[in-house]
Amino acid sequence: MDAIGQLTELFELSQNTVFFTGAGISTESGIADFRSPGGIWSQIKPIQYNDFLADESTRLEDWRRRFHFQREFDAALPNDGHRFVADILERKHGLGVITQNIDGLHQRAGVTEDRIVEIHGNGTKATCLDCHSPMSLSQAKDFIELNGSAPRCERCNGLVKAAVVSFGQPMPQTKVLAAKQMAEACDLLVVLGSSLVVQPAATIPLIAKQGGAKLVILNKEVTHLDAVADLVMHVPIGETLKQVQTLSDGDL
Ligand SMILES: [Zn+2]
Repeated sequence: MDAIGQLTELFELSQNTVFFTGAGISTESGIADFRSPGGIWSQIKPIQYNDFLADESTRLEDWRRRFHFQREFDAALPNDGHRFVADILERKHGLGVITQNIDGLHQRAGVTEDRIVEIHGNGTKATCLDCHSPMSLSQAKDFIELNGSAPRCERCNGLVKAAVVSFGQPMPQTKVLAAKQMAEACDLLVVLGSSLVVQPAATIPLIAKQGGAKLVILNKEVTHLDAVADLVMHVPIGETLKQVQTLSDGDL
């Protein structure tokens, strides 16, 4: 059986599939992988969380960058990979998706908020750092235009920041825990477009594996977990999953 056939069979046999997605699924929608070599963070110095807290001009620069990404996210569309994930989760055997992406494309493909764990946050939203009240990016933009200063919370006057995990900001432990629980509960973990280098990405597939799940890795490059995976494919994601959909005759 070829790799597509094996992958289709793994999906057919699974009762509880979990997806783990990284930049590679969204580059197929035209979103730049900003952490990769040659990506934006190798050209522009990333803003550290402590500098955001300490300095008003750094906060304004951070917002300028957020609005730039927002335009990129708005211009992008979910692709066949995002649609496949949403389809599986909507039907009987999908538990959820853990993602390193901040672009909101899984939700735009139809994944509901209760099925997604965004371990690096969401760049299409903002929240108060003190009371966690939400603010939309367009409200933040209006605030800056009106006041010439970085947005403050309407409720408590706390600093508002894009709802992403910034460089130097601790990873939200509730999300890491939710991701680990999902990995423990699944019988099939499918990595889509992550090089599995940073934590907790590097360990989540191992948690699934230790719990007896099958591990599949679809990624352009080799990862350090390829050797322990049940199936590894260095292929385009959307195109491959579309073939799986076709081969299964819409039965997944
Ligand atoms: Zn607040």
